[in-house]
Amino acid sequence: MRLTSTRDATSSASYEEAILTGLAPDGGLYQPTETPDLSQVFEAMSPTTPFVDIATTLTCSLIGDELGPETASDLCGEAFSFSPALTTLADRIDLLELYHGPSCAFKDFGASFLAASMSYFLRKRGRRTVILTATSGDTGSAVAEAFAGRDSIEVVVLYPSGRVSPLQEQQLTTVGGNVHALEVSGAFDDCQRMVKEAFLDAALKRELPLTSANSINIGRLLPQSFYYVFASTRLGDDRARTRFCVPSGNFGNLTAGVMAWRWGMPIAGFIAATNANDVVPEYLRTALFSPRASVRTCSNAMDVGNPSNFERLLALFDGDHDRMAQTIAGDTATDRETCDEISTTHAETGRFICPHTAVGILAAKRYLTAHPDERVVCLATAHPAKFGEVIESATGLTPELPDTLAEAMSKPKVATRIGPTLDALSGYLMDELRG
Ligand SMILES: *Cc1c(COP(=O)(O)O)cnc(C)c1O
Repeated sequence: MRLTSTRDATSSASYEEAILTGLAPDGGLYQPTETPDLSQVFEAMSPTTPFVDIATTLTCSLIGDELGPETASDLCGEAFSFSPALTTLADRIDLLELYHGPSCAFKDFGASFLAASMSYFLRKRGRRTVILTATSGDTGSAVAEAFAGRDSIEVVVLYPSGRVSPLQEQQLTTVGGNVHALEVSGAFDDCQRMVKEAFLDAALKRELPLTSANSINIGRLLPQSFYYVFASTRLGDDRARTRFCVPSGNFGNLTAGVMAWRWGMPIAGFIAATNANDVVPEYLRTALFSPRASVRTCSNAMDVGNPSNFERLLALFDGDHDRMAQTIAGDTATDRETCDEISTTHAETGRFICPHTAVGILAAKRYLTAHPDERVVCLATAHPAKFGEVIESATGLTPELPDTLAEAMSKPKVATRIGPTLDALSGYLMDELRG
């Protein structure tokens, strides 16, 4: 597979180059140059094919030319000691549970695969790297877990002070070792901008081998397509009338699903569900894309006002609004509606859902009311216990912490506070992490 920048169709990079540089030199995002037709590959998978086998097959189909089949299989084996699960939530609504990995959120899939493939290439070349990543909550902990203890890799996680949940903060500030947490006095959009600016800063890049682990990194995006395929193999004849509903913030998750669809995954389409940060649903409705400052909500991992993957998503539809709107329906939930949905779902099914998942379920229910012949698979993006405060205020009950989360809560927080500027970030990097 060759990759091309979203801003320059004539550029070309290998998977290795793309994952180690993160952002393309022109500031665009890497995406596959060709659209492979994998419909035969999908056809050959059965409802009992294990997730790790689906991942291995797709890795071979997509980047087998660079890795070879054995490495592809080793990488997937190393990355995926955990698996998604598809369960029934309600009439015509299934949940694709993506929270059974080490940080209890879907970002574990992308981070784990990226970590395994980066380690492989760095080992092969005898190089070191410094990973810069901005988090609105869950990225940081997934990346921290996936890269913890890896040789030749330092990880710097930027998070917005006071805007991630106490548990998320514990998760990303207690790993230690090669994982460095920076507490930024600003919003997630500031963290994301600082990381983007650092990558475009020639002086910094001369001194440090910087790369990214954000959802802009194609090495995180590709593996997120694997669980859509996993779910589609479990839907039987219903596939053609099933939509995936994706609770979205930076739109990496949805973009990965659309990529799988472009490769021939046989499903009906998607629903993009957001909280009040609704620039994409607005675009789907009006054809106008107006990025703006993010607002705070109770589904904070989706508080993104200028979603960086929109550029990629649009490119997948050749920049054509109408084609995108035919394939993706949009919907938005307020915090009040989100809490009501958490409480309704708990009352009706006995299950706790995280606030992000609740935004998706509400969108799925509204969609199905208008489309009585269809089904929806809603992506359950995080374990409800990661957002215990929200669940408690909605239901009066507290979901039990899984062991991994309980362990993080008991460790001391270590973070460096910095201002929301490139200068502050450069200063830290030059002082702490230069060769
Ligand atoms: C990151 C995150 C999202 C948003 O995913 P994007 O790929 O940024 O759209 C939704 N829910 C949870 C729990 C997340 O951590």
